[in-house]
Amino acid sequence: MLLGGKVVVGAGNIYACEALHAAGIHPMLRCDRISRPRAARLLAALRATLAQALDLGGSTLRDFRDAHGISGGFQDQAGVYGRAGQDCRRCGGTVRRAVQGQRATYYCAGCQTR
Ligand SMILES: [Zn+2]
Repeated sequence: MLLGGKVVVGAGNIYACEALHAAGIHPMLRCDRISRPRAARLLAALRATLAQALDLGGSTLRDFRDAHGISGGFQDQAGVYGRAGQDCRRCGGTVRRAVQGQRATYYCAGCQTR
């Protein structure tokens, strides 16, 4: 599984969820099943997600952090994280929550495929 393994290792859960959503990749896709183009897209999405989080969090980190240590600005922009049951901002599908290992994963079954 991507979130449990080697591809997104080191990325915080919220960023991993958001990057997978941006790349259109299902979180339960096995690491060894991901194609090279999709892996490249995921890496680009992860970089963009982290850059966006830095931009949005820079001014609020000092004053406010939620339970996850994430600034409010980024969470407000989240496509899937913490939005179970709500509409996907991209395809209108329903955002789902699944538990992998010890942590919750959020994804859209409409636009994230295996
Ligand atoms: Zn979607």
